Amino acid sequence: MSSRIPSREVARQLDVEILTLFPEVFDSFLRTSLLGKAIENGIVRVHRTSPRDYAQGRHRQVDDAPYGGGPGMILRPEPVAAAIEAAEGEPGRCYRLLLSPSGRLFDQALARELAGRGRLLLICGRYEGIDQRVADLFADETVSIGDYVLAGGEMAAAVVIEAVARLLPGVLGCGESADDESFSAGRLEYPQWTRPATFRGLAVPEVLLSGNHAQVAQWRRSESLRRTEARRPDLLLRHPLSDDEKALRDGGSAKRRRK
Ligand code: SAH
Repeated sequence: MSSRIPSREVARQLDVEILTLFPEVFDSFLRTSLLGKAIENGIVRVHRTSPRDYAQGRHRQVDDAPYGGGPGMILRPEPVAAAIEAAEGEPGRCYRLLLSPSGRLFDQALARELAGRGRLLLICGRYEGIDQRVADLFADETVSIGDYVLAGGEMAAAVVIEAVARLLPGVLGCGESADDESFSAGRLEYPQWTRPATFRGLAVPEVLLSGNHAQVAQWRRSESLRRTEARRPDLLLRHPLSDDEKALRDGGSAKRRRK
């Protein structure tokens, strides 16, 4: 069993090994924007390995029909196991995630936890999935990015990489912060605006133009709460309202009633 890592500890660098039959899927993703820069600056390193290169036989077949019958093909365990061992190589053991719709739901808390691991291995399935022995023998966790079925684990791996990488120091631009945004405190982020002050008849809320920082902060907290109540009541069940928030909400609805 691996030990739990306190969510505040973040590694300075991230090494990611991706196991995928389609390494080219990641080409532009790894070159672009924040992640592309983080890779250029050596904060994030990503390496890709294809199980196909470790498959046996003339046809290098990586999949086969499921035992017990049923549609589609299942990835065989041997090429995946050999690819894991080759990918980890000298630097040794990674924290290994198997991407699957039947995994634990990926969320910001897990992203923070993974940001403390330093070295990740992401195993992408294809077709109907991967022989169960890969999960049993190799995976530290099985992770799903949502309740829908993709054709492969590559997009899911990209989601995990992007969510984790942006938490490392130096990946987000100066002054940007990952602390004050959706999910960090079990609340959705408040809405934001930029110039122009009026666009197609819609004006930016006046309080944001007031220059009164305390008022702006309070308004944002109350918008954040309102949005969370309307769109994600499940978050409120897991992170109940604080006394401050109750006061804010009661104050806010009293004001709205007066309008
Ligand atoms: N038959 C499987 C689905 C296989 S989809 C089932 O019903 O569970 C093929 C591959 O896509 C999976 O092996 C997995 O790696 C990836 N995948 C699909 N949906 C995913 C999701 N929501 N989260 C993470 N990976 C997913």
